[in-house]
Amino acid sequence: MELKLVQGDITEQEVDAVVNAANSSLLGGGGVDGAIHRRGGPEILQECRALRASRYGGGLPTGHAVATTAGRLPARWVIHTVGPVHSASEDRSELLASCYRESLRVADELGARSVAFPAISTGIYGWPMDDGARIALSTVRRTPTGVLEVRFVLFGAEAYAAFEEALREG
Ligand code: ADP
Repeated sequence: MELKLVQGDITEQEVDAVVNAANSSLLGGGGVDGAIHRRGGPEILQECRALRASRYGGGLPTGHAVATTAGRLPARWVIHTVGPVHSASEDRSELLASCYRESLRVADELGARSVAFPAISTGIYGWPMDDGARIALSTVRRTPTGVLEVRFVLFGAEAYAAFEEALREG
């Protein structure tokens, strides 16, 4: 599997699947989630509502992942995953790792060959970027998958530098 780092906007990526840093309601939020729904159009939200009315009545649990259409995005699918809110008193790393693993599992179910990830939990959910980058890269490297390209799409130079550093260390 090829691991790539790019600085940019995840909604512009031409890949089979883009991963959304969603919240458990699946009904929209800020950050990556807001950008995906704005640019992808109402079809994505419609499928999210259907998921809430069926499999995920109580919301999508933290660390889990589920796919919908990508609407008008250049990708074919959006894989929604819910990252943990960072906590200073409790180690939630395993839940963050689970987001990457479960997203790749869903990507495999779909037959996706290329997947773009944002730096899950490092925005509104407050995870420190360097630690988030380490968990992201080490988890993806260790997860057996049929996905051929994993692209981390980092928003801004600081996020990109943190991932570059974590890639070099790993
Ligand atoms: P979370 O709630 O999981 O923290 P956010 O969407 O708030 O999710 O942020 C996750 C990361 O994605 C942050 O580092 C943020 O700067 C970044 N980000 C925000 N918008 C985009 C975008 N359009 N493309 C890629 N990354 C983005």
